[in-house]
Formats: sequence, C-alpha cells, structure tokens
Amino acid sequence: MIYLDYTSTTPPREEVLETYNIVSKKYWGNPSALHNFGAEAEHLLKKSRSQILEVLNLKNYEVALTSCATEANNLAIKGVCNQHKWRGRHVITTSIEHASVYSVFRELEENGFDVTYLPVNRDGRISVEDLKKALRKDTILVSIMHVNNEVGTIMPIEEIGQVLKNYPKIIFHADIVQSLGKINVDLETYKVDLASMSAHKIYGLKGTGALFYRKGLELAPQITGGPQEKKLRAGTTDTASAVSLAKAIRLIMEERDSNYDYVLGLNKKVRSILESCDGVVINTPEEAASPFILNFSVQGIKPETFVHALGERGIYVSTKSACSSKSSKPSRILKAMGLPKEISNYSIRISLSHLTTNQQIDTLEKELPQLIHALK
Ligand code: PMP
Repeated sequence: MIYLDYTSTTPPREEVLETYNIVSKKYWGNPSALHNFGAEAEHLLKKSRSQILEVLNLKNYEVALTSCATEANNLAIKGVCNQHKWRGRHVITTSIEHASVYSVFRELEENGFDVTYLPVNRDGRISVEDLKKALRKDTILVSIMHVNNEVGTIMPIEEIGQVLKNYPKIIFHADIVQSLGKINVDLETYKVDLASMSAHKIYGLKGTGALFYRKGLELAPQITGGPQEKKLRAGTTDTASAVSLAKAIRLIMEERDSNYDYVLGLNKKVRSILESCDGVVINTPEEAASPFILNFSVQGIKPETFVHALGERGIYVSTKSACSSKSSKPSRILKAMGLPKEISNYSIRISLSHLTTNQQIDTLEKELPQLIHALK
C-alpha cells in the first residue's frame, strides 16, 4: 500500500500503543477517586498535562483533554460564545474552516449570533485588512485555522495576533490540527487564547484530542456532569489516553524539524510530477503552504473515479477532506478560493509524511501519468 492520506489520519506509533497498553493495564483506577489507586492515576494524569504544556512551551496555558479536535473546536467556540455573549454577539471566522468549526458557526447563526465569514484569496488566505475592517465593538471571538486541511495554506496567524493584541477583550481561537508537530506553532507569540488538536493526526490515538486555553479564560462547559477537566468537560478522564498523548506530542516535536525538511523534499518531487501531467492544475499555493499537503485537480476526470482507480493500484489519496469526501458537492474550500467549477469539482488531495518513502513517490511518478492518460 502506498498511503498518501496522512492529513485524514496517521498510523499510531508503536511506542504510543505500548504506552496506552501499559498504563491502561496498570493504572486503570479512576483519577478522581480518593484512594491511593486513584491517586496514582491522578499523578500520572497531572504529569502528562505538565509534560504536554512544557514540550509545547505553553507556560500560560492549561490543557483540557477531549475526544478529538471536533470536540475541542466545539468546546472552544460554543464555550466562548455561551460564556461571553453578554458582551456581544458578533464573531468572526473564515470561509474555509474545517466542518467542525464551520458548522458550529452555522449553528450559532441560528441562535442569534452575527457571524462574519472572512473571504479568502486564490491562495486560500484571508487578508488581515479584511479582518481589521470586520472587527466591531461587539466582537467577542475570532476563530481562524492555522493550516487549511484541504489545500495546506498557512494563515497569517502571527499578523492576526498582532492586530488582536490591540483588542484584549476579543478571544482568539485557532484550529492547529494540521500545523501542530509539522510547522512552528507558538501560541504565545501569535496571541492565541485557545487552540484545538487531535492526537491521530500526529501518530497518536483516535479518540484523544485537546484544547489548550489561556489560564484564567472563562469557558462554558459543553458536557456537564462531574468536575473533570476543571469543570470544562465532565466524564471520567482516560489516564492512558493522556499519557499516550503526551508521548505522541513529545515524539513528534523531537522529529518536527527533520520531518519538515524531508517532507519538503518529497513535496517538490510530487509537485514536479503533477506539473508534468496533462490537464493537472495544482491548487495548493507555492508560497506559505504546508509541504505535507498537495491539492490538485485533474480536469475532466471525476475525483471519485480517479481516487478509486489509484486505489486499485494500491495508492491511497483523497478527494477534499475525509470529513466531506463522501459528499459529491464541489469543495466548499476551493469554491471560496474563487476557483471555477471545472477545478473545484475535480480536486484530489495527496498528503505526505516522514513515513512516505522516495520509492513510493517513484511509483507515483510511473502510475500517475499513465492513469490520467487511460482515464481521459
Ligand atoms: N480541524 C482540521 C483542520 C482537521 O483537519 C480535522 C480532521 N480532518 C479536524 C479539525 C477534526 O479532527 P477530528 O476528526 O479528529 O475531530
């Protein structure tokens, strides 16, 4: 198998699986229990939280463990809106957020919030000037993703933070699912107050995610019950998930820079393969984009047909994002980028990893032009 769909998910590392097994066998006590067995689990949990925050250099932040980034995004956005709505009901996001952000804003609109969806340019990037113009006295939240999951565009998050620094009452949320462990993420410098991530995108386990939030920031819980996660997310905390998350984060952070250089090399190869194919248009911008993602359209060939035909040759890529790939609608992201239907209806995403080998890319080089020719 030549797996080129690492943006949708990654394989869990052996070390992470081992950690999960050991901790869940040995420390399965409820970390909220008063007895020593519970206290041991609680100790591990606390240690994992501080390791995560330390590795990511998040001195002024707390971490709330969640089941995934979707839950973290919901907690961040609804948590801010429900808690701070007395100050205002205007919120700002972009037109190319992941469904787990976009649909939350759609829901908020139905509940009386006024949402500004910032437009993006042909590269999938918002303009900071547009953001400045959109800010209002009643704005309480700005939510902008760091790296877009469909095309890989990097948003000007540091500049956005510089603007928002002058509006201390506006809360800044960033979806860092596709940037954490891949490119530099410095929440303090970017003035980000809340950030969401998923472990399975960084070789961790499905079912584990996190919301990082600035100390002292008040959020309304989205799951109520017990006092876990500082009352932000009720339910018995899974110690083994927390310890595995700390491990996955530490390992990816250790490798991040060398992985980046390696993947950048692969990306250049794939780009030139795509450029040499007839009828292929590359949608990922050349500048300020994550090298882990390459989005392109093969004009005239239905993306589903293309993905299945590649799949028959053992090469796994995706159309759009995994969360929207089963819908036959054109990509909302490419549409927002202003790309015509002939392109936005035909997009394919290749996503790379440090696990991708040069040999695999050589196979792609052989198969891709042949396949395009055959399907045309
Ligand atoms: N945000 C982004 C940018 C993503 O790529 C994804 C996963 N496709 C998510 C949020 C949601 O992650 P999960 O499915 O793990 O909740």
